[in-house]
Amino acid sequence: MIDLRSDTVTRPTAAMRAAMAAAEVGDDVYGDDPTVNRLQAVAAERFGFEAALWFPTGTQSNLAALMSHCQRGDEYLVGQDAHTYKYEQGGAAVLGSIQPQPITNQPDGSIALADLAAAIKPDDVHFARTRLLALENTIGGKVLPPAYVAEATALAKSRGLATHLDGARLANAIVRLGVSERAAVAGFDTVSFCLSKGLGAPAGSLLFGSLPYLAQARRWRKALGGGLRQAGVLAAAGLHALEHHVARLAEDHANAARLGAGLAALGLKVDPVQTNLVFVELPPALLAALRTQLPAQGILAALGPKTRLALHLDVSAAQVEQVITAFTRAVDSAGTVSTEAGSGNAARAYPAAAGAAR
Ligand SMILES: *Cc1c(COP(=O)(O)O)cnc(C)c1O
Repeated sequence: MIDLRSDTVTRPTAAMRAAMAAAEVGDDVYGDDPTVNRLQAVAAERFGFEAALWFPTGTQSNLAALMSHCQRGDEYLVGQDAHTYKYEQGGAAVLGSIQPQPITNQPDGSIALADLAAAIKPDDVHFARTRLLALENTIGGKVLPPAYVAEATALAKSRGLATHLDGARLANAIVRLGVSERAAVAGFDTVSFCLSKGLGAPAGSLLFGSLPYLAQARRWRKALGGGLRQAGVLAAAGLHALEHHVARLAEDHANAARLGAGLAALGLKVDPVQTNLVFVELPPALLAALRTQLPAQGILAALGPKTRLALHLDVSAAQVEQVITAFTRAVDSAGTVSTEAGSGNAARAYPAAAGAAR
């Protein structure tokens, strides 16, 4: 199987499983798990925060962070495309009584500073209290420009807002930019960081912040059902991932770039590839061909008019070539392709993608 649906599908490596099997454990609700405590201490030091708190999922880590920053009736500024707004069932509103103020994301994933400034409400009984700016990095596989992050967080601070980063895939941004963890989180009061995406742990996210924030987040974690007992077996996977699986993300980025280039060479519209995610537009006839042909070749993908293909630890460079070959066959069989003689693959043309998102 070549599973391109997400970078969450990775299975723990043999070395990771060995580390998990050997982990010392205790009851983490009592703060007694030595492996959880070690992971939290190691990660906090590496990211330059006072403390870190382990969560079973990134959804819960983000929610506990938002609930620690905002009281009932407060609001947070967030991108229209952000995970905390769009892909977490509105948990901040449903469970936290926090009003999201969604704002359009620019093509590079940022939120325009003017839009942010305009969305901050004055202190007036008609308005929710604007408390927090939440950014996401990477967002849709794109790395937020560091200069933008500095400006946006400075703007938030100057207007009295706290700042949260959903850094589920921040490790991809760190590797792509070649910056330190500390540099990547500068300007944020809290950061949520996934160990279970590209880093390959079976579960776990870390929330970074100051001790008072994390004390509050720890309370919310318990209320949200995230107080785990012998979580050290999972924390051991996280420690292993931090030590062994960060730098190697460059391989996923190279594989993604190769896949993007291979698909573009077939005449498909591919977004510029920055990290481990490839976004490609699939015309209807090709989409139909791929729906039958890919599974038959053991390739799993979340196919749609705009398809996201995720590269990760369990997809090799050789498998990327298999995927490109499979797409090439599908293009050849789709029947809607007209190849102009003499100008090679790049000249393959498609009818307009009716019904496609863009
Ligand atoms: C996956 C993801 C999350 C949530 O993580 P889970 O561990 O799946 O709950 C949050 N934010 C972003 C940007 C993500 O990609």
